[in-house]
This record gives sequence, C-alpha cells and structure tokens, in this order.
Amino acid sequence: MKRVCVFLGSNHGNRPAYRVAAEELAAALTERGLGLVYGGAKVGLMGVLADAVLARGGHVIGVIPGFLGGTERAHRGLPDLRVVGSMHERKATMADLADGFIALPGGVGTFEEIFEVYTWVQLGLHAKPCALLNIAGYYDGMAQQLDHAVAEGFVKEVHRGMLLIDRDPEALLDRMAAYTPAHVPKWLNEDET
Ligand code: AMP
Repeated sequence: MKRVCVFLGSNHGNRPAYRVAAEELAAALTERGLGLVYGGAKVGLMGVLADAVLARGGHVIGVIPGFLGGTERAHRGLPDLRVVGSMHERKATMADLADGFIALPGGVGTFEEIFEVYTWVQLGLHAKPCALLNIAGYYDGMAQQLDHAVAEGFVKEVHRGMLLIDRDPEALLDRMAAYTPAHVPKWLNEDET
C-alpha cells in the first residue's frame, strides 16, 4: 500500500479517545510512509487527522465537493486539495487514489463511505482491504450486526471476513498490508459447489 483512504467523523465525538486515535493513526501512517487520502474537510476528526499527518511531514490528499466548502470547510492548509463536483465524484476519486480504506469512528457519512467500498470488494470490483478501527468499542455494535446478518443468511461468512476490524492502528495496518482477498464467487447468490 502507498496511500490509505480514511473515512471519519466530521464531528469530534464525545470521548477524547477518538481524537487520540486519529493522532495515533496519523503517526502509524507516516512512520510507514503511507500517504493519507480523506474528505478534505477541516472540521471534526477529519481535521484532527489531516493536521496530525501534516505535522509529521506526511502526505495528504483531500477530496471535497465544492458545495461542502461552506458547511464542512475545506482544509486550506492541504498541499493537494481536489475540489470535485459531487459526493459521487468524491468517493470515486478517493477510491481510485487509495490502496486501502479505514473507517475511524464517525456518523452516517462515515458508515456509508466504508460500506460502499466494502460492497465493492464483495462484488469483486476491487481487491483493496477495507477496515474498521474500533476505538473504545465504537464499532462493536456494527460487528454484532454483521454477525447477525451472517447468522440470518444475508451475508456470506467469506464476505464478513472481508471487513477487517481491530482496536489497534498498527495491528490493523499490518493486517491490511498482508490482506489477500478471499475468492469471490462470480455470482454472489450462487453456491460455489
Ligand atoms: P459523518 O461521518 O456523517 O460526520 O461524515 C463524514 C464525512 O462523510 C463528511 O465529509 C460527509 O460530508 C461525508 N458524507 C456524509 N453523507 C455522505 C454520503 N451520503 N455519502 C458520502 N459521504 C457522505
């Protein structure tokens, strides 16, 4: 991996642990020489992460739709800020630029973004690792919901395993670097046997 796309909250969340995790992930990325791709905003955890990577001399690409400039405020300190025309263009640009995807704690926007790239790996549209950084148990409920979906026959075990989940940024990046996608059946609803 050369660049990792990180999805995360446009708010800070209520626990200091979330901000600390963004800073620890910034340290882990820069120590490994990995560039950051993210949504280009200055607000919330998004701004914390970008500032922490920049402060360590790391490389950051921000991708933000023009219409969000007012609400999320584009991070004007970025050496590479790409202003695009729509949310779809933002997500496609981030997906093209990155070699892997991590979601830190965030809101509905973060959920949507990581689940989109996760569904794409399930469909075989790309083979890049997708991961949740589970800070302070924030994603425990998400993991339980996915297990429930497997138990109820809506998600295959092999696809469940394609979303890596870890509490530790270093361990998560190690797992992402070692990730080789499981065999994806051509037709998702067809048994392989
Ligand atoms: P949130 O996790 O809701 O704080 O949002 C994190 C980022 O996701 C922000 O940059 C939002 O603009 C973005 N976002 C919000 N809704 C969506 C959506 N439907 N699709 C893609 N990104 C979104």
